[in-house]
Amino acid sequence: LSVNEYLRQHIRTVADWPAPGVQFRDITPLLQDPKVFRVLVDAFVHRYMDKDLRPDVVAGLDARGFIIGAVIAYELNVGFVPIRKKGKLPFTTVEETYELEYGSATVELHSDAVKPGDRVLLIDDLIATGGTMMAGKKLLERLGATVTEGAVIVDLPELGGSQRLRDAGLKIFNLVDFD
Ligand code: 5GP
Repeated sequence: LSVNEYLRQHIRTVADWPAPGVQFRDITPLLQDPKVFRVLVDAFVHRYMDKDLRPDVVAGLDARGFIIGAVIAYELNVGFVPIRKKGKLPFTTVEETYELEYGSATVELHSDAVKPGDRVLLIDDLIATGGTMMAGKKLLERLGATVTEGAVIVDLPELGGSQRLRDAGLKIFNLVDFD
């Protein structure tokens, strides 16, 4: 059993959540089992320990990107910065608004979270349309940082988000694909 298939078997699919017709890919079983959690985190850590891929900073997207992003940053011995939904960060921020299927969302980053020239690894649990990760990339770049890679547990390639991100110049790494 490959690491990817092992992780895939521990993702739970919940039908019709949060809306009818949606197949939600629930990653909480990966976190709940300590052995699976370790395999998950180690898969990222082994990749980003490599000297060519090792970032200066890990940025995590609200909220599941915080859970894995913080552990990966700790293991790489680099700092962690959160990209949060609007209204949660106390200090001065930069913000980015993006379109959702219905309405829009805004994410924020502390204006001193990264420095110009920092190489940043951007982490989330899943890419669907790619809008969330694209917003995170823009925030980090607005502060002068370079996003070296966007990393997720799950990509939904049929939605075209990861391709749009690649077309925008962001390298994408994922452990599991779902239709
Ligand atoms: P996007 O912006 O790429 O359309 O959506 C990705 C964001 O929505 C991520 O922050 C992710 O956590 C959340 N998301 C959307 N669909 C799912 C899903 O099926 N499973 C999980 N775990 N997160 C999802």
